[in-house]
Formats: sequence, C-alpha cells, structure tokens
Amino acid sequence: MINSAEIELLKTAVERLAEGAADAPEFAPGFDVNRTRDVLDEVAARMQDNYPYFHPLYAGQMLKPPHPVARLAYALSLWVNPNNHALDGGRASSAMEKECIVDLGRVFGWDAPLGHLTGGGTMANLEALWVGGRLHAGKTVLASSQAHYTHGRISEVLGLPFRAVDVDEAGRMDIAALERELDKGDVGTVVATIGNTGMGAVDPLPGILELAGRHGARVHADAAYGGYFGLASALKASTAKAYACLGETDSIVVDPHKHGLQPYGCGCVLFRDPSVGRFYKHGSPYTYFSSADLHLGEISLECSRPGASAVALWATHQLLPPVSGGEFAAGLDRCLDAARDFHARLSAGGHFTPLFDPELDIVVYAPRASAASEISRLSREVFDAAADEHLHLALMALPTGLVAGRMPGIQQDAETVTCLRSVLMKPEHADWTGRIVELLDRAISR
Ligand SMILES: *Cc1c(COP(=O)(O)O)cnc(C)c1O
Repeated sequence: MINSAEIELLKTAVERLAEGAADAPEFAPGFDVNRTRDVLDEVAARMQDNYPYFHPLYAGQMLKPPHPVARLAYALSLWVNPNNHALDGGRASSAMEKECIVDLGRVFGWDAPLGHLTGGGTMANLEALWVGGRLHAGKTVLASSQAHYTHGRISEVLGLPFRAVDVDEAGRMDIAALERELDKGDVGTVVATIGNTGMGAVDPLPGILELAGRHGARVHADAAYGGYFGLASALKASTAKAYACLGETDSIVVDPHKHGLQPYGCGCVLFRDPSVGRFYKHGSPYTYFSSADLHLGEISLECSRPGASAVALWATHQLLPPVSGGEFAAGLDRCLDAARDFHARLSAGGHFTPLFDPELDIVVYAPRASAASEISRLSREVFDAAADEHLHLALMALPTGLVAGRMPGIQQDAETVTCLRSVLMKPEHADWTGRIVELLDRAISR
C-alpha cells in the first residue's frame, strides 16, 4: 500500500543536502504555503483516479512501481533540479549517470560502451537506429511483426525504409523469414527484440547475429523491457542462449523505468563501439565551457534531460546492484516464477487457455470458446468483471492464426482475437497467482 512514512527519510536527506550551500549568503525564496497545501490536497484527490499499479492484483500492463530509494532520491534531487545536458547544469548527477552507464554496460558484458540515459525506450531506440542509419545510409530496418510498434515509426522519422519480419508460433522472429528479407540485399539494421512487449517472447539472437553478420547488417537489441533478465538464474535454456550473446550486438536499449525500479523518464542506449560518438559531435554556443570533461549532451540527441533520473538510478544501484546472484536478480527470478506458476494454474483450470509458454514474465491467455469472436467478447467481459473484484488485467489483439495454433479448431471468424494479458512484473506476484486465478474463474463464471 502507499506508505507516507517514507517521507521521513526524505526530510533528513534534504537537510543534509542543504548543508552544501550553507555558507552562501542567506536567501530564502518564498511561496504561499496555505494555497500550496490546498492545491496539493486537490492533486492527491485527482490522483486517486488511477489503477492501483503497486498492488499485486494489478496484473495488467507493463507497469512496475519504483523502489522507494529511487522515488526518494529522485525527489531529493529536485531541490537542486540538475540538468544532465552539460556539466554546467548538473556536475554530480552527470558523474552519477556515467557510473550508471558503466554498471549497465556490465550487465551485458561491456566494459566501456558509449551510452547515456534517455527519456525512455523510444528515444533510446531512435538513437540506435539513427546511428545505424548513419553507418548504412538509406538502408532498410528490419524488426519482427511483434516488435514494439515504434520501430516502424522511428524509421519513418529517420527516413529509413522499414519492413516487418514474420514471427514463429511462439511470437519470436522467424529465422527463415529473416533470411528471405536479408537476401533482398538492402538491409542496414536488424532489430532483435529481447522480450517483446506483447508476450515477452525473445527473438533467437544467435541465429540473427549469424545471418546479419553474413549480410553485413548491424544488429540492434531492443531489450527495453527484457534486458535485465540476463541477470536472472531461472531462464529457459533456449531463452538463456539469446541472453548469452547479447554482448555481440552493436547496440542495446534497456529501460530502467520498465524492470529497473525507476520512475518514468529513464531509458538507456548503449553502443558497443564508443567511436560512434563521432556522429553526435556538435558545438553548443551556450554550454560545454565549464569543463573539458565529457558533457553528456555531446553524446545524446536530447538537450535538457533530468539529472533526477540519473540520481534515482544511481541510488538504486547502490542499494540493489544490477548483478547476477544479488537481491535485484532474485526479484527477477520471482517474476519468472510468478509467470510460470500462473501459466500452470491456468492450464490446469477449466476456463482459460494460456497461449504461449512464458519466456519472461508476461502471460497471454484466452477464455475457452469455439470462435475467435466469442473469445474476444469473453475477454472483454472478464476484463470488466475482474476489475469489479479489484483484479486489473490488460487486453491484447493477436492475429487469429497465432491463437489458433494453441486453440486448434476454433472458428476463425475474425482477423484478430482480443485476448487477456498479464505482466507479472512485481516479485510479489509470485505469492498472488492462486488468488488471481480464483478471481479470474469467478469473473468468467459471473
Ligand atoms: C516499452 C518498450 C519500448 C518503448 O519504450 P518506452 O520507454 O515506452 O518509450 C520499446 N521496446 C520494447 C520492447 C518495449 O517493451
């Protein structure tokens, strides 16, 4: 539940922060405390109109609460409000960001990548595909038909042709289909999705690297959601093989605001070859004068960026280092357990068919029915009925062919089927799968 006691920690920390400027001449900007209190009360009331994302019975979209240390460090940094564009605007937080990049590089086995934080995964993917386009001007970007929808749009923004590659029955990029696309001879970058957003399927990276290498194409790993799972110990063998060669890709995107316990506004792009920094080179008439050290704005497309994101991530790395075998990794294993357990309970029950063996912590499932249209109708009914019981789910449209693979014999009377989807990305979900299935059974029987 939301616990206001955390605020005590923040007060002490703000007092400690204030000591840093204690010898400046006295200056206290004022504000209307009473009006501010009233407005805050209004904000709190308005903000009640949200799903309870922090609760294990929120088992819907890819939403995970930030760790208290991230929330508090982020808030603390706002008393400074650093800007990580340049050292002029955020010395301490820029140093923290550079340390975070080293930590994140190590997650993928990279000692000295070029990288920085971004507003999110979309901006990070844009930078990776932009660099790909600079190296292979005018060449095509490939990503699977289940890759994040933004890859097509990013390619459009960059003026690069884009083609989608078919997926296999598990939702992963189909290697034979990829080969056919590469054989056309116009491909600059292949996007391998390491954990797709819909079902958590991991593209077969060893095969992708081999084929792309043979055709002279770059490989970019979109691991916005799934990147951290390389630290887990309980991956399926086939999935683990993809993670084992992540370090052989040219660039990687991972979102600390997905599985890294961060508030929104924290993505990250990493490049294996730091020399791609040359593409970013630009002058700024206003900044970069305060130090000869690297200003993060010199290697990013965005200008102003919240130093707060770096402070929050750095604080989280101190408490929960992103290394295998640690507490952070154990949390990821619990999410994998939750998804497997949920999948097993649904399979054993009488009302729902899980559509894919979960590779990570997403389970897509469908109410049992004889026609595609009937499954869609029931999914929407269950979505609403479960919400009345405080169980919040997500819906997902899948090509009917993909669903029919797991529900043979269904009448294919529509092109897509609306299914149910649960991202079990809170470690606590592992303790709640029984309760969730109970509520699902009740919702469908209503
Ligand atoms: C979430 C996600 C993105 C987009 O990232 P944002 O942080 O939402 O901009 C891209 N790719 C994948 C695989 C994702 O899961």
